[in-house]
Amino acid sequence: MKTKQIVLASRPKGSPTLNNFRSETVDVAELKNSEVLVEGMYYSVDPYMRGRMNDAKSYSPPFDLDQPINGGVIAKVLESKSDILKAGDIVLGMLPWKEKCTVSEKDLKKIDTSIAPASYYLGVLGMTGLTAYFGLMNICKPKKGETVVISGAAGAVGVVVGQIAKIQGCRVIGIAGSDEKTKLLKTEFGFDETINYKTTKDMSKAIGILCPNGVDIYFDNVGGEISDAVIASINFNARIALCGQIALYNSTDTPMGPRLQPMLLTRSVLMQGFIVGNFKNDFPEGIKHLAQWVKDGKIKFAETIENGFDNLPKALLGLFKGENTGKMIVKS
Ligand code: NDP
Repeated sequence: MKTKQIVLASRPKGSPTLNNFRSETVDVAELKNSEVLVEGMYYSVDPYMRGRMNDAKSYSPPFDLDQPINGGVIAKVLESKSDILKAGDIVLGMLPWKEKCTVSEKDLKKIDTSIAPASYYLGVLGMTGLTAYFGLMNICKPKKGETVVISGAAGAVGVVVGQIAKIQGCRVIGIAGSDEKTKLLKTEFGFDETINYKTTKDMSKAIGILCPNGVDIYFDNVGGEISDAVIASINFNARIALCGQIALYNSTDTPMGPRLQPMLLTRSVLMQGFIVGNFKNDFPEGIKHLAQWVKDGKIKFAETIENGFDNLPKALLGLFKGENTGKMIVKS
């Protein structure tokens, strides 16, 4: 049996392009005991994949050249030599970008599609939802009445952070890159105020106006100049969760901003970077809360679905151009 796969053809310098990927047709490995043959249904594309395209040491290893990219995939079991999984089961795993592949049962988790659509396990009930939950609840520890600012607010992590912060009784300000996104944040996701960073000339001033009592929590998905502007309004005893720095992922030089340390020191601010995997022992607790909020309609979710396995590279590149609202997913 043959399958299509997408490999890393070359490492990008600066912004990646479609030329950094290559599609090829290869044999599917023979099915062995304790393995299943799966077919991909939904593929996750995530900003962290940009870091894995570099040949640099980080918390996840670089993708190998001429080998398939891999990431979160929801797949259907077609054939099984496993006692745990049977044909027809829907599973989640970190899988190669192949239309079909054989996988050990150990590397897959069966998902319950009666709770939510299968694709939600790549988003609000998956890695990005858990990132939102633990980054906000465990690092920022929100209190009722506090002002929360979120950069990258209309993305997979951001929309969930904002809604959890609202559940905690906070005032929530979201920063995103288009009027459509900022409108949706207010009308669909219950954010109190929003800023379109692409059309706002003076971000520090805009944040100062929308946060007259200062910023108690800053959930940072973006970094760069947006963060410089938010931190100018940071309050005494504020907490900053450093979740992502997407504004810097494609930069080739070392970006410099204002020196933040004097502000953090004089205002007793806690700034903490984190990786969602730090909280893996508590994932069941996070999923339990997120699933309940989704079920109760307290958390709504958005997905941007790109159709066609061949569009995986295009969808990944789209994250850096703001082409998604909520979770970017490719449906095979
Ligand atoms: P998103 O769904 O938010 O997609 C990326 C969004 O980032 C785009 O839609 C775009 O929205 C915005 N963006 C892209 N380039 C820039 C730029 N140069 N300046 C400002 N905004 C930009 O992704 P996720 O929600 O999955 O991830 C959000 C962040 O969280 C990322 O930085 C990611 O790396 C990080 N992350 C960290 C994890 C952890 O464990 N610490 C786990 C998961 C994600 P817009 O139109 O608003 O510009």
